[in-house]
Amino acid sequence: MTSSRPSVLVRGSINIDEFYSVQDIVRPGQTIASRSLKKLLGGKGANQAKAVACAGADVLLDGAVGGDDEGKSVKGKLCDYIEGSEGKIIGDRIVLAEGVSTGKAVIQLADDGENCIIILGGANTHPRPDPTPLIPDNITHLLLANEIPLDSTLSYLKAAHSRSATTIFNPSPMLSAEALRAFPFDQLEWLIVNQGEMSTIYDSLVGKTDSISDSEDSPEKVIENALALYKKLDCKTSILCTLGGQGVIYVRSISTTSSGTDTENVESGHLPAAKLLNPIKDTTGAGDCFMGTFAAGMARLAKNNSERKAEVSKEDFTDVLKTCLVACSMCVEKEGAQDSYHPISAVEERKK
Ligand code: ADP
Repeated sequence: MTSSRPSVLVRGSINIDEFYSVQDIVRPGQTIASRSLKKLLGGKGANQAKAVACAGADVLLDGAVGGDDEGKSVKGKLCDYIEGSEGKIIGDRIVLAEGVSTGKAVIQLADDGENCIIILGGANTHPRPDPTPLIPDNITHLLLANEIPLDSTLSYLKAAHSRSATTIFNPSPMLSAEALRAFPFDQLEWLIVNQGEMSTIYDSLVGKTDSISDSEDSPEKVIENALALYKKLDCKTSILCTLGGQGVIYVRSISTTSSGTDTENVESGHLPAAKLLNPIKDTTGAGDCFMGTFAAGMARLAKNNSERKAEVSKEDFTDVLKTCLVACSMCVEKEGAQDSYHPISAVEERKK
């Protein structure tokens, strides 16, 4: 049984994604009719928190929604019971921001598959009544993305690091080259990126890549680049790079003890994507699914160990990654982001 005290904290965005189905994307000066409107819960913070909860861990979601009925309903839905999982989202730190709208993504989906999106930060970017990071003692893992003001991300990163929680960050939307160069990577334990994000960071911090393209490099080439980036980050930040249909590569720091002396070492590898049992429907939110499932798996290992930051064996680590890959393959077979996340019982069944 998981305890009701959450082990994972997500500080991030909460959105309502509004999908308008249109024949063609609206042009300047034009008024068009939409055939339908579908509203789904989204925002990287909410997506990641849902993925953590589906993967069986309790998660404290620290974010904000509007103080109106719409915002209250979003908060209620996020904290709903998830059948087939012992995990849940705890909403005590979801602020109801009075006089402000819940964050929105207004998406036009055209018949030819083209889309265009307007983002309203709303409550996500509104100044918080109390901006001081709150990291409860039982939190072992913090998840961050970049859809909230960067100064908030940085203050949570610092606070969690100083409390010995494991920090995990996905820089999406991507930071500017200047912000990347100033980023306190010494406080970051896990950088999780997709292939496009990986090459942008590489270009900004290491130098121009000789990649074929953002998405066509072989896993071996991405590992080579990730190792160079890892060195550039003073061998302190481990890296996971998801490769869509090619799975994931990792570069992680491990410490080995020999004759009583600890030595920091690096381990790297590639795991292919899990087999799909159905055609791909929609890859939206797959990266967030990966992040949340990873944090839940690592938090479970930390909980089973008396030492908060005990070394994770290669076997345990690759098992966590395999669970992430199965959860993601199930996610891309279904439409939507959070709606496509499956409870851990179903993921474990598919993993057998
Ligand atoms: P993002 O959504 O951040 O762009 P990716 O596209 O790399 O991230 O996808 C994240 C994960 O989703 C991958 O590591 C993989 O497990 C799964 N995935 C994505 N696309 C596919 C695909 N075409 N086939 C199988 N799995 C996929």
